Amino acid sequence: MAHCCSDNEYDSMAKSVEEARAAILASSPALTDTDVLHLTAALGRVLAEDLCAPQPVPAWPNSAMDGYALRSSDGEKPRQLIGHCFAGHPFTGVVGPGECVRIMTGAVLPEGADSVLIQEQAEIQDKTILPQQRPAPGANIRQTGEDLQPGVEALHAGTLLRPAQLALLASLGIAEVKVFRRLRVAFFSTGDELRPLGSTLEAGQIYDSNRYALQGMLQRLGCEILDLGRILDNPEHLEKTLQQAAGMADLVISTGGVSVGDADYIAELLGRIGSIDFWKMNMKPGRPLAFGQLGEATFFGLPGNPVSTMVTFYQFVQPCILKRMGKSTPWTPSVLKLPLAHPLKKKPGRTDFQRGVLISGENGLQVAGVGQQASHIMSGLAHADCLIILAAEADAAPAGSLVEVQLLEGLV
Ligand code: AMP
Ligand code: MG
Repeated sequence: MAHCCSDNEYDSMAKSVEEARAAILASSPALTDTDVLHLTAALGRVLAEDLCAPQPVPAWPNSAMDGYALRSSDGEKPRQLIGHCFAGHPFTGVVGPGECVRIMTGAVLPEGADSVLIQEQAEIQDKTILPQQRPAPGANIRQTGEDLQPGVEALHAGTLLRPAQLALLASLGIAEVKVFRRLRVAFFSTGDELRPLGSTLEAGQIYDSNRYALQGMLQRLGCEILDLGRILDNPEHLEKTLQQAAGMADLVISTGGVSVGDADYIAELLGRIGSIDFWKMNMKPGRPLAFGQLGEATFFGLPGNPVSTMVTFYQFVQPCILKRMGKSTPWTPSVLKLPLAHPLKKKPGRTDFQRGVLISGENGLQVAGVGQQASHIMSGLAHADCLIILAAEADAAPAGSLVEVQLLEGLV
């Protein structure tokens, strides 16, 4: 891979992470096609319609605790136990003055009662209940519509359906939802040195690991995946693959061959068959990046070094995919600030995405680098649980300084 400058040099021609991300998002249109799915098939999909509550949740006032339903106006006076109600089995009578009904969590509040005395605050003498304190009106009652009033928007179009959203929809009695169709993503790796798993490596050969990273990241985003395999550094094969990928996918990703080395053909080919920008990125890892249009498809040419492939995917491809899937903002990974447990080395010039681990101790949550930070050291990323972002202009970061962190779990 050809390099134009060393790690400690500023490069005025290079694009910043923010500039590149903004340019990518500006030309990443959201899908419009939709599917109608049962909730059991909708996990990870993006809602394509605003959904309002058709009825109140809860639909009836009910008890939040196990205890006794009664009238609070009787104060601490003893109450006569006249019946009981369980979740799903309401009491059909009326609770009058001086009376109470045994009630369990989730059971409908009987008519006449306005309060639930929790059982820990009641003394029981045969069929008489002696309150140990005056139950306040409305105490321990879940009111009708307290969660959602009818007609109120429960979820808006663009919401990514996670387990909590599926449960909310189910609580409203909604069984089927309109979601955007899945994004079709074709990907391939390039390099004469790459060998499939199961083969014996000869001198200079390596296993093709990037395709497994891509498959995992795309699967977690809920994409429809088209794995086009490993392609040799051969312009005819590459051109054929690019054309084929563009015809079948919404988004095409390649890894490797995107620089200006003698066996790097991606730039030249795409200049001819698509409209592509090649960016020298002001970041580490992940210097070269190609982005553009290949027919109807969005194209990303990611750098070949495995750590660069994954870091650039998270910073640029994932936001593009989330936007194209129809998800509403945010598309970019969330950033938190944590103190550094140990100093980190860095030279000013490029935004650094160092691999880090979280440390939870008596000083609270801290973050530390994983040690080896080179872009071919996959074990560092595999042991990391976050990326530590050090700004382009920043120098080395001392222990105790606050640094920006992206959690890898939060990166989907
Ligand atoms: P390239 O971007 O093609 O110049 O590749 C940069 C480095 O990443 C080289 O050391 C390649 O051997 C390595 N590399 C490229 N593609 C892969 C891949 N699919 N899996 C693992 N390593 C790769
Ligand atoms: Mg290569």
